[in-house]
Amino acid sequence: MNERQEDLFGLFSPAAGVHRVPPAEPHRAGEEIVFQRSHRAQNYRLTLRRDGTAVATIPARGSEREAWRFIERHRDWLARARERQQRRPAAAEVWTIGTHLLWRGEMTPVRIAAAGERAQVCLAADVFRVPQLDGDLRPTLEAHFLRRAKVELPARTWELAALTGSDARHVVVRNQRSRWGSCSANGTISLNWRLVQTPDFVRDYIVYHELMHLREMNHSARFWARVEEVCPDWRDAERWIKRNGTLVGL
Ligand SMILES: [Zn+2]
Repeated sequence: MNERQEDLFGLFSPAAGVHRVPPAEPHRAGEEIVFQRSHRAQNYRLTLRRDGTAVATIPARGSEREAWRFIERHRDWLARARERQQRRPAAAEVWTIGTHLLWRGEMTPVRIAAAGERAQVCLAADVFRVPQLDGDLRPTLEAHFLRRAKVELPARTWELAALTGSDARHVVVRNQRSRWGSCSANGTISLNWRLVQTPDFVRDYIVYHELMHLREMNHSARFWARVEEVCPDWRDAERWIKRNGTLVGL
């Protein structure tokens, strides 16, 4: 039954009367839905938070009742999204010895490499100095990752720029919360330091993607043709990003 039919039914049904009463909130075990009103939202929107809470956004002139209908129509999507979420481990908020975190594309446990005064932890073959072994290691490790990224990512970018004859001018490595890379018209390529956590083919794809933007500042078919030429497995990389982006906190 589509929305219009539903409306007509509501209006003409003697049982419903002229003023329709909002349906009682359908409660389903294990399902939490939070409503939030947004004055900027144009449409109803349903998102799934990392903690498993579904968030229904109600636009300025919308109603909670409509939002419930919207949710009903997107039940399948929500079920699939929950399933996807359960299949992948969530990024841990706090990193301690034993935490598995994404490093060089693999979920890798944080292990003790040395204790005492000169405490060190390792992630596979990489060793990092830490002030102490207990407590949250995340700030220290992320600072290490950023330093690594500032060495590795520009080097790789210059390499791929030379390989593809691209005209990059500067490479900067940033702490970006929402994007992997960007590129400006003056030839500056910005890369997210978290690319040291992803598999190499994903890192390379992001670099190629930005390099190709130096020639096509858009996402036109011409742009994608250029990407395809230099990085034929870009679709796999996009798929990896979609599936695993949350592992690196993006
Ligand atoms: Zn792009």
